[in-house]
Amino acid sequence: MQSLFAGHAGEGLDSAKLNALKEFHSAGKGFWSNVSDAEWSDWRWQLKNRITTLEQLQRLLPTLTPDEYAGTVLANHKLALGITPYFFNLIDPADENCPIRSQVVPRVQETHVAQWEMSDPCGEDSHSPVPGLVHRYPDRVLFLVTDRCAAYCRYCTRSRMVSNATGYDFHPEFDRQIEYIRQHEEVRDVLLSGGDPLLLSDDKLESLLSRLRAIPHVEFLRIGTRIPIFLPQRVTPALCAMLRKYHPLFISVHTNHPRELTTEVREALGRLADAGIPLGNQSVLLRRVNDDPVTMRALVQKLLMCRVKPYYIYQCDLITGSAHLRTSVRKGLEIMESLRGHTSGYAVPQYVIDAPGGGGKVPVNPEYVLSRNKDRVVIRNFEGRIFEYPEAADGSPRLPRPRKIEEEEFV
Ligand code: SF4
Repeated sequence: MQSLFAGHAGEGLDSAKLNALKEFHSAGKGFWSNVSDAEWSDWRWQLKNRITTLEQLQRLLPTLTPDEYAGTVLANHKLALGITPYFFNLIDPADENCPIRSQVVPRVQETHVAQWEMSDPCGEDSHSPVPGLVHRYPDRVLFLVTDRCAAYCRYCTRSRMVSNATGYDFHPEFDRQIEYIRQHEEVRDVLLSGGDPLLLSDDKLESLLSRLRAIPHVEFLRIGTRIPIFLPQRVTPALCAMLRKYHPLFISVHTNHPRELTTEVREALGRLADAGIPLGNQSVLLRRVNDDPVTMRALVQKLLMCRVKPYYIYQCDLITGSAHLRTSVRKGLEIMESLRGHTSGYAVPQYVIDAPGGGGKVPVNPEYVLSRNKDRVVIRNFEGRIFEYPEAADGSPRLPRPRKIEEEEFV
């Protein structure tokens, strides 16, 4: 088995691409160069000036394709169009397959329903004892706080509810959600998500965190957010000072492509890390966005430079209208194979499939255990070399010494 780069004919090319992807750049003000610095760095200004209409998109992105045009016309019946000016500046207008553009600019393919697709692929609604609360795993709950996001990802698993384009009419009932947690002593871990919890005001978020922290059996709080990526301006010193009062508090961000990690994002993530918040990243494997080993390696290495541990790579859920963005599990395994052993263990996330219909996250890994019986385990390493480890419950192997492993029997 060959490493991705070692001895590879395209080594120079791949290394050059990797290094280029790992560079940090500012998104700059781009189309908004006449806006003052104070406005540009004001997260409320960014939200107020989001791109939400076809007219704005056509003006700012004259290369809009017919598929994107048609998709945008229909978007407000499925998942609203919304892009912050900051994030919009990361789009390459000359590239219709730009990995940033594919994530936030609607395409008509979103209205096609492929076989197996579902509006609630993780079965959240059927595991919801109280509106806005999902209790799928024994000791933890998902606490949905809003249906709004700073920008809308076209493959969003919760597109049935976020942005309210489908008329889902999400209304969290915080008192009932908190009361449910209070009454269920087995819940030790609460994940705030949505929509994006960091869109709440500091006061509102603090009120929720303090009420949850006051429940004795809640050991651990988490926030799932894409705000540091879509709207790094929101990560203010005041927000960080408030969050640090509620430790242990972890934050999971959501980044899919290394270009999303700008200097602005690196600074925002640094402010969160300085507040003592452990940071993890969740990526969704998306076709032509990050489904190649070099892009994914650049992403995970760059995340570590931003003090973020790559946590999960998700196989894209079977959400309605996402076929054009999904890629195969085979490709995901190939990417994992290219990471494990070839880069720092801290940079290697867990690849998971959220089992369709509500089975929960299932880890999927390349095969490293080739054979296993009561006497031995045969394993292979990242280079494809094969080894034997003696199996013995009491620590005294029955096999006298390692056997010679014939690779042909396994490979
Ligand atoms: S930020 Fe998260 S919840 Fe919001 S649209 Fe993107 S994936 Fe969905």
